[in-house]
Amino acid sequence: MEEGFTAALRSLVEAESPSSDLLAVETCGDRLAAVGESIVGAAPERIPLPGGPSALVWRRGEANAPGRVLLLGHRDTVWPLGTTQKRPLSLEDGRIRGPGVFDMKAGLLVGLYALARLDPHVPVTLLVTGDEEIGSESSRELIEAEARSCQAVLVLEGAAEGGALKRARKGWSIYTLRCRGRSAHAGLEPHKGANALVRMAELVAEAQRLNAPDRGLTVTPTLARAGQTVNTVPDHAELHLDVRAACSTDQWSVDDRIRALADAPSEIEVAVEGGRNRPPMEEGAATALLERAARHARELGERPLESAAVGGISDANLCAAMGIPTLDGLGAVGGGPHAEHEWVDVDATLHRIPLVSALVDGLAKHPLPGP
Ligand SMILES: [Zn+2]
Repeated sequence: MEEGFTAALRSLVEAESPSSDLLAVETCGDRLAAVGESIVGAAPERIPLPGGPSALVWRRGEANAPGRVLLLGHRDTVWPLGTTQKRPLSLEDGRIRGPGVFDMKAGLLVGLYALARLDPHVPVTLLVTGDEEIGSESSRELIEAEARSCQAVLVLEGAAEGGALKRARKGWSIYTLRCRGRSAHAGLEPHKGANALVRMAELVAEAQRLNAPDRGLTVTPTLARAGQTVNTVPDHAELHLDVRAACSTDQWSVDDRIRALADAPSEIEVAVEGGRNRPPMEEGAATALLERAARHARELGERPLESAAVGGISDANLCAAMGIPTLDGLGAVGGGPHAEHEWVDVDATLHRIPLVSALVDGLAKHPLPGP
């Protein structure tokens, strides 16, 4: 089992798939289809998506069977082509390292091996997209359509620290604030200018005051640009804000307040672009599924499962916001997502396979009570 898993993971990692490279993500899709077919015994359906890479879908059980479960993952990574040459997949002390192993190619294998263990009549869908790391714009509609026909969504992203499942995720909004002033010579007639950079600095301070970390709300100025030359009063400045909110109410109210920054009277015009990218996956979305998972883990003789609320987003946010019970972090156990030391604990990750398959099987036999 372990050897087959490692070989399959090597094959997926070597098919590099940076989100920005459509052709590479499609080629990785070909590889995943072949690897998946060898594990599951069936080829996936390939669904073309306008403006993005195709999705791969393994659909089992009767088409309209009630109580269907969605397993969700993505095959794109944040690593540019050529990274595997510099950092090829390696296995040492029970840890596999390599670009995209934890986020989330090992998780895709957890899903495939879990399918292989299940009776083929169990109604379950494994959906693999290819644009999650860049906001799921082209796959969002499909994800939501698949989720709508399911009683629950199990997301195969990597676990939180120590193998903890992810029961809540913050929502994410991004903003660009453009300040438009008036340029002038900084030596000869600075008084004739309207300094966009100074206005931007005030906006940084105002944005800072919107933080409420005790409620899980953070507003972080992340990028800034201003000015033309070292001796000119700058007529333009641009500020980017990253907003994370634990609850939808905060996400909307901070949206109002950021837009209000633009309305303050000033000779510098401020335009606000951007807004909400993902709604939060709020506490409660995963409760019923967490209880199930804990019970199956006990039955499988695993140590008690932990769960965590995390700041990062995934497609779990989309499904949870639709009111569908959603649990994330069921894929690889390891760490270092988007980091060079990214790693997967092989043994702990293999233990996810019976857990995921038991969860799906249990949900098929005893569906969650309806809303
Ligand atoms: Zn991911």
